[in-house]
Amino acid sequence: MNAPVALPLGCDAPKIRSERGQRAVFCGLTGIVWLHRKIQDAFFLVVGSRTCAHLLQSAAGVMIFAEPRFATAIMEERDLAGMADMHDELDRVVGQVLERRPDIRTLFLVGSCPSEVIKLDLAKAATRLSQRLAPDVRVLAYSGSGIETTFTEGEDACLSALVAAAPQQAANAPEQLVVVGALPDIVEDQFARLFSELGIPDVRFLPARRADAAPALGPRTRYLLAQPFLGATATALDARGCSGVVAPFPFGAEGTTAWLSAAAEAFGISPQRVREVTALKENRARVAVSRHAARLEGKRVMFFPDSQLEPPLARFLSRELGAEIIEVGTPYLHGRWLAPDLALLPAGTQIVEGADVDRQLDRCRAERPDLTVCGLGLANPLEAEGLATKWSIELLFTPTHGYEQAGDLAELFARPLARRELLEV
Ligand code: SF4
Repeated sequence: MNAPVALPLGCDAPKIRSERGQRAVFCGLTGIVWLHRKIQDAFFLVVGSRTCAHLLQSAAGVMIFAEPRFATAIMEERDLAGMADMHDELDRVVGQVLERRPDIRTLFLVGSCPSEVIKLDLAKAATRLSQRLAPDVRVLAYSGSGIETTFTEGEDACLSALVAAAPQQAANAPEQLVVVGALPDIVEDQFARLFSELGIPDVRFLPARRADAAPALGPRTRYLLAQPFLGATATALDARGCSGVVAPFPFGAEGTTAWLSAAAEAFGISPQRVREVTALKENRARVAVSRHAARLEGKRVMFFPDSQLEPPLARFLSRELGAEIIEVGTPYLHGRWLAPDLALLPAGTQIVEGADVDRQLDRCRAERPDLTVCGLGLANPLEAEGLATKWSIELLFTPTHGYEQAGDLAELFARPLARRELLEV
């Protein structure tokens, strides 16, 4: 592992404050929207209520036109005495799903909030079903409950379950790099080519597109997070003996080069080789980003706590587009992984960990930023008050990592400002 990274301290450091209160974020079930596209032979069976089914339909249904690989097993009101029936019911629904979709190799049982579901031990149910369905199908469980998880934590819980179930890497296996975080296939392919050009031969991705491509894990694995919200997954990887590479996240030209450089350094590749591979691509990315700089330069931007992508995106907006960052709200701050991004933020940037939506709304109304990055629930009311907003969920649904996407990422932030200019004209 590279040297532990401390959160930046001193008067040049960002100011970090914690808040606790009401939050306005989706629950962890939302992650199924992008995870089911990524893991092509997986099925996500949400064990939940009609509310969960509605959330999935409205969050995902409108964006998916192929036959979906997720569903909700609705648990009706029962008391503890009815638990045996609930297990039978679960087995019956699982049987139906697998009969209809014989191509499924991983079935996730996803827990939710209702008390009837909390009483069910889904981990035990997954072990029991796995024993019955092995070797064709493995059944894993995780929670997407709104009580335990926010928005992107669903992916963290899902990947933690995958890490726990991954095969053991052979003691004499060649050293491998595992890139962690669900990336669109096109971005994954770009990164795979870059790592290969750098000279890292054995690179795997977690989650893998198919169960048979899942990496074996062990002390011969170095892992590199592609998303900042994967703290629990990182802890699970550490427990498997893997070592983490800490780097700024690969958003924008600068972030992508820094991320690739950290991986290269961990594998003993020279900075000169990194420059040879990245210089042209980084320049192209800088040109693509600069096309949107005129619209964002000097603009005051505030982030509400939502996806946990806020610190690296604030770094990108500030350093590559010249935006002024008023406040960076984030639901959780995994200091070990975010220290490099925080160190690149302007001195004194206000970071707020946690959520107290009323106080954050008060500050937003007082500051009247040029652009507010927030969840869907807050965007409409703020727009109605004359503030330009960017939905943070779009930053997860759209390919944004790496050199090729840096211009698109800048455009995502520039678009609401362009729209507002047009409306004003
Ligand atoms: Fe289901 Fe709870 Fe999410 Fe609501 S918050 S959709 S009940 S998991």
